[in-house]
Amino acid sequence: MAETRIVGGTVVTMDDARTVHVDGEVACDGAGTITYVGPRRGPGGDLDVSGDVVIPGLVNAHAHSAMTPLRGYSDSKALSAWLQDMRRFEVRLTTADLTWGLRLALVEMLRSGTTTFADMFRWDAGLLGEVVGAGMRVLAAPALFTADAVPFPAASAEDGRGALDLTERLAAEFAGDRHVRITFGPHAPYTCPPELIREVARRAAGAGTGVQIHLSEDAAELERSLATTGRTPIGHVASLGLLDVPVLAAHAVTATPEDIDLLVAAGASVAHNPVSNLKLGSGVAPVPEMLAAGLTVGLGTDGVASNNTLDMFEEIKTATIVQRGHRGQVDALAAADVLAMATRDGARAAGFPETGQLAPGSWADLVVVRTDTPRGTPLHDVESFLAFSAQGQDVRHVVVGGRLLVHDGRVTVLDEAEVRAEVNRTATRIRQELAGSADG
Ligand SMILES: [Zn+2]
Repeated sequence: MAETRIVGGTVVTMDDARTVHVDGEVACDGAGTITYVGPRRGPGGDLDVSGDVVIPGLVNAHAHSAMTPLRGYSDSKALSAWLQDMRRFEVRLTTADLTWGLRLALVEMLRSGTTTFADMFRWDAGLLGEVVGAGMRVLAAPALFTADAVPFPAASAEDGRGALDLTERLAAEFAGDRHVRITFGPHAPYTCPPELIREVARRAAGAGTGVQIHLSEDAAELERSLATTGRTPIGHVASLGLLDVPVLAAHAVTATPEDIDLLVAAGASVAHNPVSNLKLGSGVAPVPEMLAAGLTVGLGTDGVASNNTLDMFEEIKTATIVQRGHRGQVDALAAADVLAMATRDGARAAGFPETGQLAPGSWADLVVVRTDTPRGTPLHDVESFLAFSAQGQDVRHVVVGGRLLVHDGRVTVLDEAEVRAEVNRTATRIRQELAGSADG
């Protein structure tokens, strides 16, 4: 089958060699696999991106994407009070609301250069089909809280036990899929009792899959865990066997050196969410210590209710500068390391090691970033531009598996105006419901 050639851009490979090819070329075959990365091989080409920067598709390692209707709903409460606000709103979301909310997230992620994401929320075959239809990739975890609670009553009557069964069914149904991979999604050790965590570990091992879970998000969680279990949240779930399966742990803000050693020994990964951690006042995760210990760290936005965007460029900049400011050390964290967290390392953390770098044999997921803007001028150093100057709105084209999903800043696979109108309708309706209800 004929190659598709993307030519003329400055190609930042993010592979082991960390090569930058000025006037470069990326080519892929009809199956969506990269066949060539290097200097431009001559005239011709299918997409001329001269003057632009070509990077691997960004990987959002922790999101609750269908939460977009909650954007800006509650912005100034600490984690536990904020979670109660979220629950009040979430329980009123219908399947249709979640579908439109997810579509808005897909539009927002694509327009800002994200091609793969790890996500814990309400998931079913229909919602996963939305991701496949949009051409993106997701590591999806149907969220579960306690065994008998129904987390999304308007969208599903499933309790925690039903969500466990659903996760197994989806893992079997999507086995071998290039766009969907499934993990279990126990929300956190403070919402899931020990016997449920044990059962998740047992079922994940049986299904040959992993787990996404929130761990050690703030000091209050750590104190509660120490008081009730005598262990840190990470030590607690380790004692229940959870680290025997692949774990993607969101946050780990209060991880101790012993916690980090436990995660490294288990081959677990961490999703670092600096904007969410700062906005909720949760703290600053010990990312330099994690990297020094050899932990795989990806970068995530968390849900828009605690961010309030899905723009990974904002996350990259924040992750870098917060460590420098927090420690008073300009070399606390290198921009190059954070770019790796947003691409190659995030892809490993999110269970899609075939993406996240531009190299022959990798999947052809790439983002073309424009520099013909004031903040793209001049271009002394392309990594500096990507880490500190670029924003999501600078994304010109997005390709996933060789398919053009964003062209000239416009999403080709969804009707953005329709999606925004529907999510506005959902948000207005639920606000009105809450205003007239006792728990609102
Ligand atoms: Zn989260």
